[in-house]
Amino acid sequence: MSGTWKWCPECKALHYVKVVPPDWRSIHFGSVRRNFNYSNCGDPIHFFKRKMKCMDCGTKWYSAEFKLTDLKDLIETNEGLRADVELMQEDLDSQRKEIGSLKTSLSIAVDGNKSRDGIIETLKSRIESYSKTIELFKDSQIELTLEYEEKRGELRELKDALKVIMKHVETEEV
Ligand SMILES: [Zn+2]
Repeated sequence: MSGTWKWCPECKALHYVKVVPPDWRSIHFGSVRRNFNYSNCGDPIHFFKRKMKCMDCGTKWYSAEFKLTDLKDLIETNEGLRADVELMQEDLDSQRKEIGSLKTSLSIAVDGNKSRDGIIETLKSRIESYSKTIELFKDSQIELTLEYEEKRGELRELKDALKVIMKHVETEEV
């Protein structure tokens, strides 16, 4: 077991760390894994994987050794992604605000519709009462017309009677 000073992820400090020898029974002879070289799911990053053990706390973990520029690329990509996520979050926030104001104006419109409906209902009932009044007027007009016709009939009878009387008077005078 070779050893060196490495950062222990559990102790969060530099501790003496040893490489845990692999279980050779589980590694096929002649395979790529034999010399601990891995590629990450076909990713262009190839690394040297080893199992480490902190000699202070006993924690075991896998370390990956690879090209430093690959790590820099990964960090830059990560930073770029974070910035993208922040921008997306800002977009999302402004969209949420827009949706909120749309909701508010929609509820105002709904309220406006409600008050419009109220006005329409009031107008409808007013129109109904006007129609009823007009119907009443019509009825009374019909009654008046009938009364008028009756009176006219009576008047005609009176006139006729008057004519008869006048004739009588004229003949008596003569
Ligand atoms: Zn440790």
